[in-house]
Amino acid sequence: MAEELNPFKIAQQQLRMACDKLGYGSEIYEALCEPQRFLTVRLTIKMDDGTKKTFTAFRAQYNNARGPCKGGIRYHPEETADTVKALSAWMTWKTACVDIPLGGGKGGIICDPKTMSQGELERLSRVYIRAIAEYIGPDIDVPAPDVYTNPQIMAWMMDEYETVVRHKAPGIITGKPLIVGGSEGRGDATARGTVYCIREAAKRLGIEIKDATVAIQGYGNAGSFCATLMKDFYGAKIVAVSDSRGGVYSADGLDPYEAIDFKAKMRTVVGLPGTEKISNAELLELDVDILIPAALENVITGENASNVKGKVIGEAANGPTTPEADDILHRNKRFVIPDFLCNAGGVTVSYFEQVQNAYMFYWPLDEVYERLDKIMTKAFHAVVDMAEKHNVNNRIAAYMVAVERVVEAMKIRGWL
Ligand code: NAD
Repeated sequence: MAEELNPFKIAQQQLRMACDKLGYGSEIYEALCEPQRFLTVRLTIKMDDGTKKTFTAFRAQYNNARGPCKGGIRYHPEETADTVKALSAWMTWKTACVDIPLGGGKGGIICDPKTMSQGELERLSRVYIRAIAEYIGPDIDVPAPDVYTNPQIMAWMMDEYETVVRHKAPGIITGKPLIVGGSEGRGDATARGTVYCIREAAKRLGIEIKDATVAIQGYGNAGSFCATLMKDFYGAKIVAVSDSRGGVYSADGLDPYEAIDFKAKMRTVVGLPGTEKISNAELLELDVDILIPAALENVITGENASNVKGKVIGEAANGPTTPEADDILHRNKRFVIPDFLCNAGGVTVSYFEQVQNAYMFYWPLDEVYERLDKIMTKAFHAVVDMAEKHNVNNRIAAYMVAVERVVEAMKIRGWL
């Protein structure tokens, strides 16, 4: 039978499993299995050629028991309500797992930003914020960048929100440019969180991280920073990297900075001098110490999981492993650092941005890194301790840590 790959169905399955392990009945599952609020809005803008075009957009506010909802906005032609709901659920578990006082949300606009001018993108971003302004706010729901949205778009959105509410509100959105209230350290925060987790995993497993071999799928923001940080911090050997056009392998290790420069010029890592070409599928099955999926969801499945040899799998990407694959990896003693723990560095620095906006006082870079390391390290060990205590895989343990915290907050508020 084909595996279920609808991300929201997967998110619900994973939640159900965590509720069962925590001994929660259907009352709690029912209170948690759908977003508290889901908005669908239709947005009409004038295109550069003078025509009018209408777009469908979403905002999911999954759960706010622990604090204001938090989550990015994606611009994608294949965006769906279910993807947005799943991602808003994962944001809820992510903020709870790393224990920052926020809930979970997510937004998306069905559009193809690659075909739109800057002017069209600005008009679309502003009309989206006008449409949802009454439902968001620094104490209600705080968006951020995600797939195909960026600091410039965040600046337009903040400006539009401030125009609507008629006062300054930099904490309405994170991932802003530094000049209008962004935080130092946001650029590589996700990758930093990932490599801090990998460092802790290596310690727990007794893997010598210096000279450990690393393969990374995806060489964008998360993947390329993971490569440079793994090399610069720990002296790890990056043996393979890839992007949408394929991968490259070098048994002696490749220079991640050269790969960045090469990709900037050639728009792909394929052809990097001194490497041989491999496919993305082959990359996932390499005999390496550390495998970092940093591209797409559902790449490790029931089909290929038994061939995955990485001792540590650090999920920088969201949802790279299907539930069926999870069972196989666990049976084969692969140590998975689940996505919403492993890639929580980004949202943690976003939270730092909210804190700095509220205080109107900004931290130097080293303070951001130090605080991030403390939060990620503590969260990592909370999850692995839970996994050991209940003899479950790390993903279920991460859910258990997160869901338990959300449920405690709901109970104490009298919602349950
Ligand atoms: P990005 O767009 O900067 O990079 C994505 C990379 O994946 C690119 O190199 C692209 O070529 C590659 N890719 C696309 N299709 C591929 C395919 N079929 N096979 C192999 N590679 C492919 O995106 P990003 O910000 O680095 O995000 C990557 C993943 O990390 C996503 O799952 C995202 O949700 C997750 N993530 C990112 C952040 C962040 O702060 N950037 C935070 C949390 C989670």
